[in-house]
Amino acid sequence: MIRNFIPLVALGLLVSCNDMNKESSEDSEMQTTATDSVSTQPEEEITDPEATEFWDPEPAVVSFDKNNIPSDAIVLFNGENLDAWKSVTDTTAAAPWTINSDGSFTVKAQSGDIETKESFGDMQLHIEWRAPQEVVGESQGRGNSGIFLQKKYEVQVLDSYDNRTYSNGQASSIYKQSVPLVNATKPTSEWQTYDIIYHQPHFDGDGNKTQAGTVTVIHNGVVTQDHTEIQGTTEYIGHPKNIPHGEAPIELQDHGNPVSYRNIWVRKL
Ligand code: MG
Repeated sequence: MIRNFIPLVALGLLVSCNDMNKESSEDSEMQTTATDSVSTQPEEEITDPEATEFWDPEPAVVSFDKNNIPSDAIVLFNGENLDAWKSVTDTTAAAPWTINSDGSFTVKAQSGDIETKESFGDMQLHIEWRAPQEVVGESQGRGNSGIFLQKKYEVQVLDSYDNRTYSNGQASSIYKQSVPLVNATKPTSEWQTYDIIYHQPHFDGDGNKTQAGTVTVIHNGVVTQDHTEIQGTTEYIGHPKNIPHGEAPIELQDHGNPVSYRNIWVRKL
């Protein structure tokens, strides 16, 4: 009994030593892992609430004017003039659309698209629009305009109130690419708001897309595009194209319908 006990104890010690070596080696691996992801793998329990507080950087303070425009926004239409815009057909000419006395402006049919003088990359865009008050046409022919992010990716503007059209072409769609989650269009008589959060696509030196652009659209306070990946240009005919580009203007579409816009501002992200 005793004779058998000694070798067993020795064997047990040997196994223990091997385990310890193994644990020691695992410990060092765990330490490396813990160091690599210190935020998710706390080494010890934190009991002080202040230990997880960050005070720097302090977010800049944003204030709001009487129209609720954030103080760090670039105003693209203030109700008075189209000085921030130019004609797309003749880039040396002023934007030829019509300024209205109620602080809005309206597409002048057949005068062509207009675009911002300034270029933008990642951004938050606020824009309000209203379909023509005389309801004419149907499907794509009723209150059609559009907001081209970086002149390439159209967030559709359409009078989609009681007006069926192809789903990836109705208001709040990424034109011919992404159907809105819901139809949040208000009646034709009412102003509509779009709040758009856009991240531009990235391209490498050879012109290959390395990261898709994304767009979130909030239509009248309702999320209609939720971080949607943009496949490429929003073509009327054919597949999306991926053409390398950098920052570019915002373009509004003249589709021949007198759609009105007001209160447009953008924040660079
Ligand atoms: Mg359109």
